[in-house]
Amino acid sequence: MLFSQDLIRSLGTAVDLVNTPLTTVADLAALVERRKVASPDEVTGADLDAVRGSRDELHRVFTTPDQAVERLNKLLGATKVTLRLSEHDGLPLHLHHSAEQAPVAEQLTADCGLALAQLFVHGEQTRLRTCAAEGCSRVFVDASRNRCRVYCDSRTCGNRMHAAAHRARRRR
Ligand SMILES: [Zn+2]
Ligand SMILES: [Zn+2]
Repeated sequence: MLFSQDLIRSLGTAVDLVNTPLTTVADLAALVERRKVASPDEVTGADLDAVRGSRDELHRVFTTPDQAVERLNKLLGATKVTLRLSEHDGLPLHLHHSAEQAPVAEQLTADCGLALAQLFVHGEQTRLRTCAAEGCSRVFVDASRNRCRVYCDSRTCGNRMHAAAHRARRRR
C-alpha cells in the first residue's frame, strides 16, 4: 500500500491525538496548532469535551480492530466531510477531504477517522499498534516495510527495553 504524504500526515495527527493527554483547552489549542487542523484561537471548552470523546473512540480503533469498522462508521457519520480536488507540493491531482466550517472536534474526527479508515480499506489495519514497552501505552502506526515495529519510539522505549533485556541476561 502506498502511504501518500497526506495520509501520513493525517495518521500522524491521529497518533498525536490519542497519545496527548488533553486536560485543558490550552492542550487542545497546542495540538490543533501543531497539527495545523484549525486556528488555535477558536478552541473552546465545548471543543475540548467533544474532542476527548472522539479521541477515546479513536483510541479503541487502535486497540480493538475487530470492532473498528462499526466505530469508524459512527465517528465519520457524525461529520460533514467535503471533498475537493487538490494539487500541491508537486504531487499529482488528488482528493482532499475537509470539514473546514465545522467545529474543531468534527475536523479532527473527520481527518483522523478517514485516515484510519483507509488502512482498513487496504487491509493494513495490523499496522495500528500499541507500544510493547512496559509502562507505555502510546499508540503508533507501523509504516515499516517489514511491519516489525513494536515500540512507539526506538530511541526512548526501544532503548529502555533493550537495556532492561541486557541487564536481565547479565543477571542469569
Ligand atoms: Zn494533498
Ligand atoms: Zn512506548
